[in-house]
Amino acid sequence: MHPMGQNKGGRRPRLNRVAVCGAGVMGAQIAAHCVNAGIPVVLFDLASEGDRNAIVRKALAGLRTLKPAPLGLPEMAGLITPANYEDDLHRLADCDLVIEAIAERLDWKRELYARIAPALRHDAVLATNTSGLSISVLAEGLPESLRERFCGVHFFNPPRYMPLVELIPTRHTDAALLDMLESFLVSGLGKSVVRARDTPNFIANRIGVFGIMAAIEHARRLGLSVDVVDELTGTRLGRAKSGTFRTADVVGLDTLAHVMRTMEDQLPGDPFHAYFSVPPVLRALVEQGALGQKSGAGFYRKEGRRILRLDPDTGQYVPAEGAIDPEVAALLAEKDASVRLKGLRASSHPQARFVWSLLRDTLHYSAVHLHDIAGTARELDLAMQWGFGHRQGPFELWQAAGWRDVAGWIREDIAQGATLSDAPLPDWVDAPGVIGAGGVYTAEGGAWNPASSDFEAPRDLPVYRRHVGPGPYAAARPRRTVHEDSAIRCWVLEDAPDVLIASFRTRMHTLSPDVVRGIMRAADLAESGYRGLVVGHVDDPFSAGADLKALMPIFEQGGPGAVAPIQREMQDMVLRLRYAQVPVVAALAGMALGGGCELAVHCDRRVAHFETYIGLVEVGIGLIPGAGGLAYCARRAAELRAGAPEAPLLAFLKGFALAVAGARVSGSAAEARQLGYLQPQDKVVMHRNEVLHVAVSEARALAEAGYRPPMAGRFPAAGRDGAATLRAQIVNLQVGGYISDYDAEVAGVVAEVICGGDIDPGSEIDEAWMMACERRGFIGLLGREKTQARIRGFLETGKPTRN
Ligand code: NAD
Repeated sequence: MHPMGQNKGGRRPRLNRVAVCGAGVMGAQIAAHCVNAGIPVVLFDLASEGDRNAIVRKALAGLRTLKPAPLGLPEMAGLITPANYEDDLHRLADCDLVIEAIAERLDWKRELYARIAPALRHDAVLATNTSGLSISVLAEGLPESLRERFCGVHFFNPPRYMPLVELIPTRHTDAALLDMLESFLVSGLGKSVVRARDTPNFIANRIGVFGIMAAIEHARRLGLSVDVVDELTGTRLGRAKSGTFRTADVVGLDTLAHVMRTMEDQLPGDPFHAYFSVPPVLRALVEQGALGQKSGAGFYRKEGRRILRLDPDTGQYVPAEGAIDPEVAALLAEKDASVRLKGLRASSHPQARFVWSLLRDTLHYSAVHLHDIAGTARELDLAMQWGFGHRQGPFELWQAAGWRDVAGWIREDIAQGATLSDAPLPDWVDAPGVIGAGGVYTAEGGAWNPASSDFEAPRDLPVYRRHVGPGPYAAARPRRTVHEDSAIRCWVLEDAPDVLIASFRTRMHTLSPDVVRGIMRAADLAESGYRGLVVGHVDDPFSAGADLKALMPIFEQGGPGAVAPIQREMQDMVLRLRYAQVPVVAALAGMALGGGCELAVHCDRRVAHFETYIGLVEVGIGLIPGAGGLAYCARRAAELRAGAPEAPLLAFLKGFALAVAGARVSGSAAEARQLGYLQPQDKVVMHRNEVLHVAVSEARALAEAGYRPPMAGRFPAAGRDGAATLRAQIVNLQVGGYISDYDAEVAGVVAEVICGGDIDPGSEIDEAWMMACERRGFIGLLGREKTQARIRGFLETGKPTRN
């Protein structure tokens, strides 16, 4: 039996309350993410004179305005309990987990542990967020009884958005406790966990920062500018768009220099040590206070609308040049990794030489150190994916490009003195098992462990049996396709074959006319042999809305009249889902815009990833929601009002109307609830890969409870008086300069439709009436020149044109 199910030695099987010590950059944001996840949290820092919790309160105020937002809603800062070590240590007695995130000093951390240890519960877990100190050395100062409940838990900045958390045990850490903590981090906080050995900078920063050092060295050697390096090491290399130097600016050059110094000081025996001192260009920037984005200058400086790059030779900022040689670009675009690496290696172009050198050194370095820093190759690869946004980890790339060939190339380069160190590749690279598997991964999902000289399956924690999606745990949930065409795939999980899942096959999961028909077919299929239907995908987004690219030619040829039947079909589709005889659950994650939002609000339930960005954005392209979005708002406002009959209907309608008029999109599932696109009974899930699992469970639970579709009823509309009041508010926005004149005109149509049209206030209407109002408003706007210009502009630039 798994330890999570036990209550070993009186240990609580769940972590219900958290304390965070240190309200700095990391501590405050970790606390914020706990309240995002609905976990009560106490945030400690040093006591001040006067207002004893002044440091924490200042940090809480900062959380409300920091970008990217650490909180689902700014006001959630009020859910974090402020505390200090002098007056409030008793508060630790309720906490199951204490995360220490104070300044990076061994002596300070030890002093703090001595201070808080007597106040901790006998079974509480203590974890440190240190990036560079040894976990074992920190553990030495702890009372014996606490040592087995202590480990490292290394979050990345910003903790809400960076998936990776490295979990670092010492030799004393209780194994069952570690499993419990991993389960909490994954399911409770939505993080992706890698286990690391207790070595300086752990895995991701060790390999990632080595890569930055290597990039700086090769750029210097080959004379490439920072913007060219970023162009070469961004999306073209399957990495974050910001490449190398812009990422460094975002991270903070002082933080980066600190990580480099840790490598220099603590890894004297590393065969690559000669390259570990902070490069002069970086040292000079930090000395000048050019720390990157936070101080306005770093490797780049923004001047008005122009972005200038640093010229390391002169120290001046100059215009970016950024041109990639077309031949190098073609090599980087090559899909076959073997052809790609071979081509880069063979080219004499400095840009190609740069990329090959960087990749080769990273593979070389990863191979030399895998044994000391990670349990298996999988941990190292995942650390780079989740911590640095690389599409593929180094070993995955190596294997994809041909294990033996690449090993041979690296060895040739070592022999020729081209590598940053002459350290040989470790013997395991040629182990019969590795050669047999063609690399460090087997077809069955095993990953090479150089310590045991064998392949290891992914950690089998119950929490991973909830995962459906890409990644190492996908194999745990086999899937079976039931129906597939060019627009839609209907499938089931083999272990839950009674719930049908419908996924769209369009780019960005847009709703093309074929997808719309596919969804209706999925509803037929679900009713004919399944207990429920889930609409959603293993990957983001949920849906970017109607497929404008497919609709535009139809419009150009036939005008608004040609689009009318397509719009009607979309309305029919959302109603088909609402009134299906089986429960329909939308599995939301990422964007759910326009038609995607309209589809979701018509399902019986929504299960939403915390990172769900949902909204009715049609006004941005000069339209109103035309697939039931406004019908939903009108009905939902009436439902909410039914619970408070003395309040005016408009009090409930206004929020919806202004959200639509402003094309507002939620920044989180928490905000989606506030906007009314998620309802109280809808579930929010922290880990992306649990969304489909929970959605399927939800559909089953609804079926189990004897599901019946809602009965189509009548509801009161706000009518012409409501519309007049809303229009007056829109005029205020227009006069205040918040929205353009044409925005206001379109918003006026929103106001009219959402109130049910030109009817007496309080008139009872139904969905069919609302749908007809929507159609009239939508088709009317589609005939307008400015709307057409907005749509064309959007298709060209991907951004709304505000004309
Ligand atoms: P920070 O400087 O922003 O905050 C440190 C906090 O510690 C401050 O609120 C300060 O009041 C408090 N503090 C200072 N001295 C103290 C003492 N003697 N006793 C108790 N509290 C004290 O630091 P940060 O960037 O949030 O880093 C905190 C920890 O997280 C460090 O161990 C760091 O290595 C680690 N970390 C940082 C990052 C990052 O990107 N900043 C990322 C991962 C991990």
